[in-house]
Amino acid sequence: MRLITTKKELFDAIPRDLSIGLVPTMGALHSGHASLMKLARQENELLVASIFVNPLQFEALGDCDDYRNYPRDLDADLKLLEECGVDIVFAPSVSEMYPTGIPLVWVRTGVMGEKLEGASRPGHFDGVATVVSKLFNLVRPDRAYFGQKDAQQVAVIRRLVADLDIPVEIRAVPIIRGTDGLAESSRNQRLSPEERKNALVLSHVLNKLKARTIDIADARAELAQAAGVKLDHLEVVDPTTLEPLNDLSQPALAVAAIYVGPVRLIDNIEITNQQ
Ligand code: AMP
Repeated sequence: MRLITTKKELFDAIPRDLSIGLVPTMGALHSGHASLMKLARQENELLVASIFVNPLQFEALGDCDDYRNYPRDLDADLKLLEECGVDIVFAPSVSEMYPTGIPLVWVRTGVMGEKLEGASRPGHFDGVATVVSKLFNLVRPDRAYFGQKDAQQVAVIRRLVADLDIPVEIRAVPIIRGTDGLAESSRNQRLSPEERKNALVLSHVLNKLKARTIDIADARAELAQAAGVKLDHLEVVDPTTLEPLNDLSQPALAVAAIYVGPVRLIDNIEITNQQ
């Protein structure tokens, strides 16, 4: 495995005669990331993982506690990536990625990036789409892997490659959860044991929604009243367009975000037609 920190080195290191898989990450890697690496390893001859905490997708372009406190542990990440059989790790600095500072030209995600997560995090998906476009240009992968945990991100990236004719196949990978049901997330490291317990209400409520033992109003009420939790949103949407759905006879996604203390957690579940 080779660690590369500059674009020039990356360009020179990537052979053009092999199928290439790319897994973009922000580091602080866990079993969710490992599952992306595993699928990408099976499907490609060369596996590239990137580690970059992208300031553009954080509040105030990274001038915020969420960016500053984002967990970073390159040594542990490299160990996990080595175990996953990654060939090249691209871990650039902010100035390497954005040598002129905040870029002038961005990829804009429009209404799709303004709803759900984007309503609470203005500009977040424009920042994601911009950095992912740069990574696609730098690596030119045949396939890129994203976690279904960030369902809106998957939908936005699929739209990005369709709208800009980027020749890459987007592969979505199922959510990996802890044994207690909490979706794995780098942000979970910031939860105290009690906060982690409080956070479990999120997956519990989504599971009840899937089983149809509660409706969306009950689900929202349960999250709104849960101890130590602040509900941001819970919606049932079309998985491709992210438009709200009332008719649950078609495949739908229940997507939610809560705050547990200062930590923002997201989760979602597919709600299939159960006759
Ligand atoms: P991040 O480092 O949080 O930007 O995540 C990098 C990639 O890993 C994204 O495509 C995420 O959706 C994916 N990912 C993060 N957590 C999980 C999880 N629990 N299960 C599956 N994929 C995940």
